[in-house]
Amino acid sequence: MRTPLIAGNWKMFKTAAEAAAFAEEFKTLYKDTDVKTAICAPFVHLAQLKAAFEGTGIGVGAQNAHYEDEGAYTGEISVMMLEDMGIDYCVIGHSERRQYFAETDETVNKKLKRLFAGPIIPILCVGENLDQREKEEQYAVVKEQLVGGLADISAADAAKLVIAYEPVWAIGTGKTATPEQAEDMCEYIRNTMEELYNEEVADAVIIQYGGSVKPANATDIMNMSNIDGALVGGASLKANDFIEIIDF
Ligand code: PEP
Repeated sequence: MRTPLIAGNWKMFKTAAEAAAFAEEFKTLYKDTDVKTAICAPFVHLAQLKAAFEGTGIGVGAQNAHYEDEGAYTGEISVMMLEDMGIDYCVIGHSERRQYFAETDETVNKKLKRLFAGPIIPILCVGENLDQREKEEQYAVVKEQLVGGLADISAADAAKLVIAYEPVWAIGTGKTATPEQAEDMCEYIRNTMEELYNEEVADAVIIQYGGSVKPANATDIMNMSNIDGALVGGASLKANDFIEIIDF
């Protein structure tokens, strides 16, 4: 039985005061349910959110990390530093990082390996862009991202993974994949995990959909059998909207 995970991705939004105000409002609205939840926030807000959510069951995630523990990597934050803070999740390979910050399947793979050496659960993002979907290359693209990202990662580690299927054409565009399109690709991802590993891993892995998830479409998406949650960008910035999605 998989426990769904609905995670917010704040991207590069919110000042410290705005993050604090969100945390206070969100805590008052949040009821512990069967769905796990987390906020993946900019690094500068992580300590504040960890403290604010202590004892609530609300997780805190980062949006990226470096695979080396320390070194001359100006501007980077390591997995080791996040572990030291007790961070719960880390988004890896988000399409915005692939598009603007030269993230590749190879760097994704190094980051996943480092994360699996500790307790932080990786949320691995995969998904095709519009051009690739129009050329019907979406399955090949997602498979390549999975094969490359998961190279030499054991079945025991892969079973702990969260995979977010995020079609790039649906991120921040207001254009959501239909529940059927999302389910179709999440089923393909689950089958690919069985092919790469085994049935137990495929059954255990949490597969989220991400791309313009809103209170109005969350129920239809979450009711799909291979979709175990959502990665939510814009709609996670407002406590009320995000709560409505969690209560789908
Ligand atoms: C995201 O940032 O991962 C995302 C899915 O954004 P949005 O919900 O705004 O499309």
